[in-house]
Amino acid sequence: MKVRTRFAPSPTGNVHIGNMRAAIYNWLFARHHGGQFLLRVEDTDRERSTPEAIQTLLDAMVWLKLDFDEEPLYQSTRMEAHLEAAEMLLSKGLAYKEDKGGTGQGECVIFRMPGTDSIFEDGIKGTLSKKAENMQDFVIVRSNGTPVFHLANVLDDIEQNVTHVIRGDDHVENTFRHIALYKALGADVPKYAHLPMIVNAQGKPYSKRDGDAFVGDFREKGFLGEALFNYLALLGWSPGDDREIMSMPEMVEAFSLERCQSSAAQVDLKKLTWMNGEYMLKLPDEDFEMICFGELDKAGIDAEPEYARRIFKLVRERVKTVADIVPMTGYFFADEFEYDEQAVRKKLQKDGVADTLAKVKAVFESLEIFDEASTDKALHDFVETSGLGFGAVMAPVRIAVSGVQSGPDLFPLLNVLGRERVLKRIERTTGLFLS
Ligand code: GLU
Repeated sequence: MKVRTRFAPSPTGNVHIGNMRAAIYNWLFARHHGGQFLLRVEDTDRERSTPEAIQTLLDAMVWLKLDFDEEPLYQSTRMEAHLEAAEMLLSKGLAYKEDKGGTGQGECVIFRMPGTDSIFEDGIKGTLSKKAENMQDFVIVRSNGTPVFHLANVLDDIEQNVTHVIRGDDHVENTFRHIALYKALGADVPKYAHLPMIVNAQGKPYSKRDGDAFVGDFREKGFLGEALFNYLALLGWSPGDDREIMSMPEMVEAFSLERCQSSAAQVDLKKLTWMNGEYMLKLPDEDFEMICFGELDKAGIDAEPEYARRIFKLVRERVKTVADIVPMTGYFFADEFEYDEQAVRKKLQKDGVADTLAKVKAVFESLEIFDEASTDKALHDFVETSGLGFGAVMAPVRIAVSGVQSGPDLFPLLNVLGRERVLKRIERTTGLFLS
């Protein structure tokens, strides 16, 4: 039997990372087994499942490279089939009609639980069971004539020939009902695997209140789709060795439900940021440059390409997310860059700094060639003859030319800026803060 899994989100406009992780596991499982991964859009909530919400969902899948097989199935198109099935269950006495609550608003269709204990093997949690007395009959068609989630979800899984249902463990209770429905409908029950929740530091389901909880948030913050994919894949699954940075084919090859953990997974943004930095480093130079140019463009920075490329090389290793690019490179392009207040107060506005900068400026002016090696040698010589500490010279120079205390190594930085800019910037800084 060919493995067929599916992602069955209810589009709301934002895609929670927990849902996306379920999609990733379904995708990895299907690809590992050479099977199919399907998309079913559970869009029966007409108010929330707007075309925009569906587009956001599709965009998130493209961004994460979660390709699916066949055409997506839109649940809203299946209402007739759902209602027909309810009629069939009624005709067999497996469901009955009732005016729930006796409100006179019409009758619901209620599924009759079989009255036997239920037990199933969960691919992650092991054997799960529930006593008959703890399972009540439940509504499958509302009094307004619309099918309820349980009925639609099961019928569509049957329609799509889904063999494995991998979803969040908030659905475990539903699964006992769903298994009963499958049996009543005379269909084969799929294999189930329920993923533990993603939680916050307090062990509660991870939500917007805890920080970025939606795929779109991470995209906006400058994370790469590949890195988020890798991070979410490892949030609750491990390949069984200490690999952390893994390509999609490596993950496909290593994936198994047995190696999914049965306890909740906690979000660790530091780890994601680290991972993203690793992915940024792995980008081919051309791709990294393209992303950088794109960011500068969005920020309205007009960059001379040759100069910009040298800057991108300089910051390459420090860039952890796409969002770092403009803050890390902006001062190269603007002679009127802003200064970090604390840096100015602590390192610039001190006795002797005006004199130091004036002397450094003179040293730079006198250099025959202005490059990385010559500025390096000149400043080290200056430190030695002046008797000043290394930091007392380098920090003011760095702040004078960039406005901030941290950044790429100073001498490559000076080299890329070039003598003319460096001298102008020292002058400007002295004028602003030291005269
Ligand atoms: N639309 C449901 C959800 O997003 C589907 C659950 C399932 O995967 O069966 O929770």
